Amino acid sequence: MERTVKLRVKVDYKTYSALKEVEKEYREVLEEAINYGLSNKTTSFTRIKAGVYKTEREKHKDLPSHYIYTACEDASERLDSFEKLKRRGRSYTEKPSVRRVTIHLDDHLWKFNLDRISISTKRSRILISPTFPKIFWRYYNKGWRIASEARFKLLKGNVVEFYVIFKRDEPKPYEPKGFISVDLNENSVSVLVDGKPMLLETNTKRITLGYEYRRKAITTGKSTKDREVRRKLKRLRERNKKVDIRRKLAKLIVKEAFESRSVIVLEDLPRRTPEHMIKDVKDSQLRLRIYRAAFSSMKNAIIEKAREFGVPVVLVNPSHTSTVCPVHGTKIVYQLDGGDAPRVGVCEKGKEKWHRDVVALYNLARRAGDVSPVPLGSKESHDPPKRWLRAKSLHSIMNDHKMIEMKV
Ligand SMILES: [Zn+2]
Repeated sequence: MERTVKLRVKVDYKTYSALKEVEKEYREVLEEAINYGLSNKTTSFTRIKAGVYKTEREKHKDLPSHYIYTACEDASERLDSFEKLKRRGRSYTEKPSVRRVTIHLDDHLWKFNLDRISISTKRSRILISPTFPKIFWRYYNKGWRIASEARFKLLKGNVVEFYVIFKRDEPKPYEPKGFISVDLNENSVSVLVDGKPMLLETNTKRITLGYEYRRKAITTGKSTKDREVRRKLKRLRERNKKVDIRRKLAKLIVKEAFESRSVIVLEDLPRRTPEHMIKDVKDSQLRLRIYRAAFSSMKNAIIEKAREFGVPVVLVNPSHTSTVCPVHGTKIVYQLDGGDAPRVGVCEKGKEKWHRDVVALYNLARRAGDVSPVPLGSKESHDPPKRWLRAKSLHSIMNDHKMIEMKV
């Protein structure tokens, strides 16, 4: 990747004249080089340089020799783009015309320093002291390096326009080495990291209902136009609280995935629609709000964060992910009445026990293409870590809370 930053510097007459001399001779070399390329039907830098170097060196004895190199490079680039235009029928001249000249510099011809930039001219080096625009500092401070090549152009009124080129390596392609599946629920999010399921409480439903209750208490019998009521409602900050949880969670998951080079696996659509999922909430609008906060918004937060880090996200079909045994492919039967452990089911074939959230995680990962072995059964679900919101990473949660992982 490459970015060019333009610096404009007003210089004194002496400096400007020295650069003007360079420009004049550079232009002459450039024209010769272009002519050579045209008559020899080549755009190759090496061939052009081999063809013109000796005579140009003789003609321009005081000009630093590297200007001949860069002029040949310039010629080669110009001939190349002229060829392309011609092929597309977009050239209106017989040969590329040299109107404006931007002098190309290589590492011998200029030196960069934050105080000043020096440029070789016919007799000595001249110095220019630019003031750097904000955009310059952005690249300079954010991991871009200054390329060894640069360019300058002379404008009227003793102004030098100097082009600093910043370079950065293309980010390495992301080669996934594993899967992190994420299962979203109304009050929690479970994550499968390193084959270990973990439950993180988000309490989305509880928070939404709690706020709803408080909102009712504030507004009952009062107009929402009332200033006092409006002030109180504003202080609730329900949204802030949920956004905060979402951000934190998305960051934990994406960071973990990024560091372990994993793919994040999410349900394409939740297994159940809001009507079925939050059955105990009568108010349909409220149900939708919980649904959005716990699923859509949470999902979007993860996808957005993943995009920022370049972590791939795979969306998989979630149907039956909690009712099919990831080992045997047979049905897992949950007791209808709930019983002591309503979220624990039994595999029809192997009779092993499975915790609903854990099964979903394994199945999601498998649907995304994970082939790592699945342990046989998971029945216990311990209390989730209480203070996960403060954790720095999912791994630190796992280490600090060994006992509260959902045991497999
Ligand atoms: Zn089974």
